Amino acid sequence: SLYNMLQDLKGSIRVYCRIRPGFDSEVESSIEFTGDDGSLRIADPSKPKDPQKIFQFNKVFGGTATQEEVYRDTQPLIRSVMDGYNVCIFAYGQTGSGKTHTMFGRSDACGADLGINYRALNDLFEISCSRSDAIKYEVRVQMVEIYNDQVRDLLGTIQIRSCSGNGGLSLPDAALHAVKYPEDVRRLMRLGESNRVLCSTAINQRSSRSHSVLTVHVHGEEISGGAIYGRLHLVDLAGSERVDKSEVTGERLKEAQHINRSLSCLGDVMAALGQKNSHVPYRNCKLTQLLQDSLGGQAKTLMFAHVSPEADSYEETISTLRFAQRVS
Ligand code: ADP
Ligand code: MG
Repeated sequence: SLYNMLQDLKGSIRVYCRIRPGFDSEVESSIEFTGDDGSLRIADPSKPKDPQKIFQFNKVFGGTATQEEVYRDTQPLIRSVMDGYNVCIFAYGQTGSGKTHTMFGRSDACGADLGINYRALNDLFEISCSRSDAIKYEVRVQMVEIYNDQVRDLLGTIQIRSCSGNGGLSLPDAALHAVKYPEDVRRLMRLGESNRVLCSTAINQRSSRSHSVLTVHVHGEEISGGAIYGRLHLVDLAGSERVDKSEVTGERLKEAQHINRSLSCLGDVMAALGQKNSHVPYRNCKLTQLLQDSLGGQAKTLMFAHVSPEADSYEETISTLRFAQRVS
């Protein structure tokens, strides 16, 4: 399609910034943007006289942007999975910046609140139906989390072994579930989320310390004899906030180190792809090993950089914007 051609010309990595709406208790935002041209200006609230910093993305969504609007700009990428493309969508940002809102929607989400995951699957089902005269599609999903560089199946019971003969990490042991209806997907996602919660300890909100990866495998058999394979990875990353090493010890420090390492490893991979480097360091962490065949080459990548509007988050916001700028 024209969209795919344009994407190929422009490179396959796009970055959108999404600004969470402010909560009532929070002070006025220091972030300014126009929304149209993808640029964003931010002032340091403690140094209001300093010049604003300017960042450029493919698109910026403000606090009033709806789930529907965000999805509209994601949809062409998602639809290309049905034509055999591999696509990765990441939600990056500090805890509380809206990653899970973008990907899943609120936990009781329905209708307008639904996030990209549900909308994507619905879309894939619709395309599958509309093309059923020419192509028989099969859609299957897997859901895993990566915690302390260990991959765990969220829809089954097994610990996943790494079997990386060709450099990539394959997941033959993670349960693959055939899905036909939107309700199948909701049921599985609820199961996956509850499996995440079950493992959380009282002190640590584990869901913000692990990456969750929902993978959709699409296999189409064309009546004419051809076959189509596409894959969609929907990744809700662990919170990117830096923890103060003087304040955490033990498990919490170990978690933080794994998160830092895997996020910077993801940043390195995306930056290398963006610069068309011949060496792409996929092997440095489980996350990029897992996604290797969907990062680079013909694959398409979209990262949502989530930021909170409140002044308290300024340092983290700058760090998120810098990360996102580097990979775009
Ligand atoms: P994260 O996953 O990054 O930790 P969440 O998605 O859980 O952040 O968002 C934190 C809180 O803010 C949640 O209560 C969520 O419902 C709310 N929230 C986040 N983004 C939005 C948004 N765009 N519109 C309305 N509420 C939002
Ligand atoms: Mg979250």
